[in-house]
Amino acid sequence: MSDSFKAVLISRDEAGTQRVEVVELTPDELMDGDVDVALEATTINYKDGLAITGKSPVVRRWPMIPGVDFAGTVIASRNPDWMPGDRVVLNGWGVGETHYGAFAGRARVKGDWLIRLPEAFSPRQAMAIGTAGYTAMLCVLALERFGCSPDQGPVVVTGAAGGVGSVAVALLSKLGWHVIASTGRPDEAGFLSDLGAAEIIDRAELSAPGKPLGKERWAAGVDAVGSHTLANVLAQTRRDGAVACCGLAQGMDLPASVAPFILRGVALLGVDSVMLPRERREAAWRRLATDLDPQKLAALTTEIGFDDIPGAARAIVDGHVRGRIVVGLDRMAGDA
Ligand code: NDP
Repeated sequence: MSDSFKAVLISRDEAGTQRVEVVELTPDELMDGDVDVALEATTINYKDGLAITGKSPVVRRWPMIPGVDFAGTVIASRNPDWMPGDRVVLNGWGVGETHYGAFAGRARVKGDWLIRLPEAFSPRQAMAIGTAGYTAMLCVLALERFGCSPDQGPVVVTGAAGGVGSVAVALLSKLGWHVIASTGRPDEAGFLSDLGAAEIIDRAELSAPGKPLGKERWAAGVDAVGSHTLANVLAQTRRDGAVACCGLAQGMDLPASVAPFILRGVALLGVDSVMLPRERREAAWRRLATDLDPQKLAALTTEIGFDDIPGAARAIVDGHVRGRIVVGLDRMAGDA
């Protein structure tokens, strides 16, 4: 049984009541895949919080090991792209939703889902970035692809003290943007200024129903919040500006009008990290290696242990997590 490992397992009874427990599994209980990875680190994303609390239907196959991101070392491969000893990163692809995920000592996945761990990062740093940070980079790339640049005016970042938001603030300030950070946590003003925010605004300015068009305040936006917040961000975006939309922390709805689009030429750029092709993932990770200050990454990261995962999952859904969380797995991988 020396191959056995611990895993967080979510299951559901016939009444639909969800149960979260730590179990011990053996490799033959993992789902199909052509690469086995010993996991060194993972992280808690908002989506993992939704999965563990059951607040939204993230899990679509029962039972499930949650966890959408991991970094680790290949221990067995039947895929020509990978061999034992390779250090890899996985973000998304339905892992932790329909395929056993990252809150475990070991994972078996499709080799096509993996990318090589960028040389610039340790496994823990890669997980400090995780899906949230890589999505922040995708938002920046979406704005750049549209033609947005810092000389056009400020950029607003919503949900700024959260995972996507804090990495977006760090990235955009390094790239020369005047960053306006919108947060509901005034106590985090110092944290956000240290990451590079030039101005902090209260998220209450954006979270209530607003007018179809408002004063033009920013040339671009990164929105992790959705709902009225995104509607107000769009209504206050300058002529020909753009907003990258990636999240729904306030809600999945978008109670907006067409006014910003047809009267100011504002563009709404959708960002999905989960099913992005490998080349675009690798491009985003290359940019993270050059554009994310490692000291700022360290400043926005907190490390927890495997046993802390359920509590952290509840905290992120309640909006109490600052920045990013790394979960060290190397001490428990295969130790059962
Ligand atoms: P976090 O919980 O770390 O951050 C979300 C932040 O949103 C909070 O910290 C808070 O920021 C703000 N917020 C929370 N609740 C509300 C509310 N009711 N009204 C207004 N603001 C609120 O999550 P992540 O940063 O990891 O993820 C953010 C969003 O992005 C999530 O919806 C997630 O599902 C989505 N996402 C989407 C991806 C994609 O591929 N499209 C990939 C990754 C994430 P503050 O305290 O500063 O106000």
